Amino acid sequence: MVSLDELKKRVKEESGKNPEKFFAVEALKEIGFERRTCKKCGRYFWSYEERDVCGDSQCSGGWGFIGDSPAKKSYGVIDLWKAFSDFFSKRGYTPIKRYPVAARWREDTEFVRASIYNFQPYVVSGEVEPPANPLIVPQPSIRFNDVDNVGITGSHYVLHIHVGQHAFTKPQEYQQDKYFRDLFDWINLGLGIPKKEIVLHEDAWGGGGNLGACMEFFVRGLELCNQVYMFYRVTDKGYEDLDTKVLDMGLGHERSVWICHGTETSYEVNMPDVMKYLYKVTGIKPNREIWTKFLPYSAYLNIDEVEDVESVWKKVSNEMSLDVKELKEAVLPVAALYSIAEHLRALLFALNDGMIPSNTGERHSLRMIFRRCLDFMERYGWDIDIHKVVETHARFMKGMYPELTENLENVKKILDVETEKYERNKKESMRIIEGLKGKRLTEKDLVELYDSHGIHPDFLRRQGFEIDVPADFYSKVAERHVHVVKEEEQRFDVSGIPETKKLYYEDEKMLEFEAKVIKVLDEWVVLDRTAFYPTSGGQEHDTGHLNRKEVVDVIVERGVVLHKVPGHDFREGQVVQGSVDRERRKQLSVHHTSTHVMLLSARKVLGTHVYQHSAHKDVDKARLDITHYTNLTDEEVEEIERVANDVIKKDYEVLKRFMPRREAEDKYGFVLYQGGVPPGKTLRVVSIDDLDHQGCGGTHLDRTSEIGLIRILGWRKVQDGVIRLEFVAGEVARKKEDEARRILEECKKMVGEDVIKGVENLRKRWKENRKRIEGLREKLSEKLSPSFKSVSGLRVLVRSVESAGPKDLQKISLRLSGDDTVILLVGTDDRLSVFGSAGKVAVEKGVNIGEVVREVSQELGGKGGGTPGLGQGFGTGGNIEDVLKKAEEIIWRMLGKS
Ligand SMILES: [Zn+2]
Ligand SMILES: [Zn+2]
Repeated sequence: MVSLDELKKRVKEESGKNPEKFFAVEALKEIGFERRTCKKCGRYFWSYEERDVCGDSQCSGGWGFIGDSPAKKSYGVIDLWKAFSDFFSKRGYTPIKRYPVAARWREDTEFVRASIYNFQPYVVSGEVEPPANPLIVPQPSIRFNDVDNVGITGSHYVLHIHVGQHAFTKPQEYQQDKYFRDLFDWINLGLGIPKKEIVLHEDAWGGGGNLGACMEFFVRGLELCNQVYMFYRVTDKGYEDLDTKVLDMGLGHERSVWICHGTETSYEVNMPDVMKYLYKVTGIKPNREIWTKFLPYSAYLNIDEVEDVESVWKKVSNEMSLDVKELKEAVLPVAALYSIAEHLRALLFALNDGMIPSNTGERHSLRMIFRRCLDFMERYGWDIDIHKVVETHARFMKGMYPELTENLENVKKILDVETEKYERNKKESMRIIEGLKGKRLTEKDLVELYDSHGIHPDFLRRQGFEIDVPADFYSKVAERHVHVVKEEEQRFDVSGIPETKKLYYEDEKMLEFEAKVIKVLDEWVVLDRTAFYPTSGGQEHDTGHLNRKEVVDVIVERGVVLHKVPGHDFREGQVVQGSVDRERRKQLSVHHTSTHVMLLSARKVLGTHVYQHSAHKDVDKARLDITHYTNLTDEEVEEIERVANDVIKKDYEVLKRFMPRREAEDKYGFVLYQGGVPPGKTLRVVSIDDLDHQGCGGTHLDRTSEIGLIRILGWRKVQDGVIRLEFVAGEVARKKEDEARRILEECKKMVGEDVIKGVENLRKRWKENRKRIEGLREKLSEKLSPSFKSVSGLRVLVRSVESAGPKDLQKISLRLSGDDTVILLVGTDDRLSVFGSAGKVAVEKGVNIGEVVREVSQELGGKGGGTPGLGQGFGTGGNIEDVLKKAEEIIWRMLGKS
């Protein structure tokens, strides 16, 4: 596999040699731009006026727009989008609604990181029609690799609004010049930025499996947007042409707003209401003089690009003729406020879209940024109302994203639970920290302590640890949770074998069929068509017969269904009769359909943040793992069961049909993608009336009433943010009910008609008895005292104790022991236990009671041992009195008495 960086380099070289093939050279010349080479970094760039450095702040010397905006327009967040969308609509683009930030339609990532993610892989590959063409979209996108830069550089965000301009065309319909001119005119005419202020860089960009040359738009050191001409698909060896040519332009919405105003940072103009509140409640106000001076340099502090941040701070403060400490004191608390505002906005989008913070996967980073907020609040002693911040964000963004107010209550609840977890965590941290006192903590230790135990470096500092925290601390933590795509394990090489025709999709009721053997791989048989459902989508496989030979397992590999038929003698080309086991299929379909019902019920009871994490349907039971931020109460579990059984009673239709993916997404939204993501152009949509719609490939019933009954067996937390519900349905549930009833009847016979009262009485009596037994034991141990034998100035007691377990022996021994005692007891309860103790004086005189216990235990058919002073063991049987005699002899021998 060649690295993406290497591929980008190759594309850049190619486009550098052949600009006409990749860039809108005609249009560039038309607007009077010329191609030049940067004397500092050597890259090709285009500009209207003569210049010898490119537009990058590193080459052109920081940002030149602060306090001096080159734009004629001064749009706010919402009206900027409206103006942009009007401008592009007039030029033939269709504005579409944003996609969720949770990328449910993809398996390679949990978050949408750029607007093109919405259309990968199927739209980009040409398999699926785009929702409009060409189109524009204001897509919130999330990345965690810049967390440490947020707040400081003025331009970095975890979530930024990536305004996309996209076209997906056949190569001959691709309009390079138009796409470029539309964007250029927007910057030039729409924002009112003069030509001479715009510098265009040639570069290459790749992501999500695609790649292309690109043109970056810089204005006074700030990169506003990047227009990627996505012509390639990344392969194992390099890259190859896509069948479609894709335009992928991403415009930083926050940056556009910022450059319109030329303020010190982009945060205030993009989140004005929230910043107003935060300034008010904390009493912090940015020192505008320092920030205005600082911001042009802050680009140097980009933690991605610098090695030693401390030296950059020094350099910047020198150039500003300020003391480093003074500079940091002016910058850091304000940067913390910006971070809080930004992170809570990111969380609002993510939680609204159904993500739950967790300790695993990329969702861990959601927890991390929330804790970063709480850590700042604690460090500076701020009392910030988090609910109010997310509410203010939602209200402010309403003109663009009205949906943000819909789940607000849930978002608040999830953040409350996260805050509680944070507080609890701090208490546990104290214990861990105790064990670390005096240790030198490395950078790796710090990341590990934070990642695994949530112990923040600030906290360690307050506890007196001297530590060096890396400047890219949060990025290092986030790095540990990068989504890794699981390589699907392949059991058989099925290359060259045609996909099996799946009769269970055409007719779920078909259980008898005829098919031709097309391949035999030892015990495994491939047919041209089959009604056997293979293990997939969390549903176990069918069983049955092929020509009276038993089918014991069925799997699917790349669309090819393989049947395991031990002892078969089929030849390729032979026609066979297939017969699927009816009972098993029925029960699997009952459990599968119940999973849909359970999910819709859980969403109804717990909230729309609930998604299917995974599911498993077997014949004896089923389980559904759902995303949820806290434990369930008994009432909630009961309510989920009640709603599920209500759905059964209402006898809804379970509709199964194939739909074009595009149409299904439009109609039902991304809630469709509950299980794994079925690939391809068409999607099999399973609907329960109009209550629930899922893309699903399993076997289902036709009506909910066929389920009969659902019983939840229990629930537990399987990982942070994931709750497992175990349940049974249909015949299995009925059997469970019958069994429960039978047990109840049995109990009634034993304790009477009122079982609860009967059991309560039993419990009471049992408790009383236990107390009495303890009393008796105490009396017993008192009684044992006279039977000590005196030997060599020691008191020796060797005997058995009836109905005593290990604990009892221990108690008795403790009560009787002294410096001069040797005690060996064998208890006869359910099994034999051996316990021995020898006092200080006895040990000095040569007694090793552990040794005695070992021998006694062995004699009794068990095992034991210990120290000279204490021994413990067990036995399984034997003549206890004989063994005790032997024990005495051993002790005498140790004392030199025999
Ligand atoms: Zn340069
Ligand atoms: Zn299903």
